[in-house]
Amino acid sequence: MKARVADIFRSIQGEGPYTGRDTLFVRFAGCNIGTCRYCDTDFKSYREMDVREVLSEAGRLSGAAGPRMASVTGGEPLMQDGFLKALLPELRRRDMRLLLETNGTLPERLSGIRDMVDVVSMDIKLPGSVGGVELWEEHRRFLAACAGKEVYVKLVVDERSDEREFRTAIGLLGDAGPSVPLFLQPAVNGTEGVGISLAALDRFYKVARSYVRSVTVSTQMHKVVGVA
Ligand code: SF4
Repeated sequence: MKARVADIFRSIQGEGPYTGRDTLFVRFAGCNIGTCRYCDTDFKSYREMDVREVLSEAGRLSGAAGPRMASVTGGEPLMQDGFLKALLPELRRRDMRLLLETNGTLPERLSGIRDMVDVVSMDIKLPGSVGGVELWEEHRRFLAACAGKEVYVKLVVDERSDEREFRTAIGLLGDAGPSVPLFLQPAVNGTEGVGISLAALDRFYKVARSYVRSVTVSTQMHKVVGVA
């Protein structure tokens, strides 16, 4: 079995609670959304690789004193969940702590691999950020499928983010359990280059704090320091 792999690389985790952690990234190609206005993913370049080839590349990058955390990311890695079922146990056998970074819209596919990962990092997408598509139901079911796992949520906001949509997203998160940490990510670039003012970010932060216990404003540190 082969998967479309956009890149395998070692870098510093730039987002979420594991920011700064030496990490091996396996970035899968393809996404079931494809319309996020801040998306910086190159959808055209990838290699067809089997599990043995991915592990060989991972081993070369990790070495004896290499990262003990691996992130499967994308694109949307759950698009290739069959391949993940073969890859993740092998990475775990190599003593890796496993992080799944997903857009949080494919709950049925998560169910097949949820016990193979240690941590789930999921997005909540505001409809205005993805061309008007509402993904509330998918996100709600995805959060439910994460019950009992270590999970955190990333939510990107920019100057054009709609406050009503934001409140719906935060309400969804609050319903799932106020203890799920939220990482509020100000958009710093992307296809449309839309940023956010401090005043707008502060407004979103205060709304989030009224529903969610742990809210962190999180820049994409890897972009700030200029690593992959
Ligand atoms: S979910 Fe991620 S990869 Fe897919 S379009 Fe949005 S930002 Fe890009």
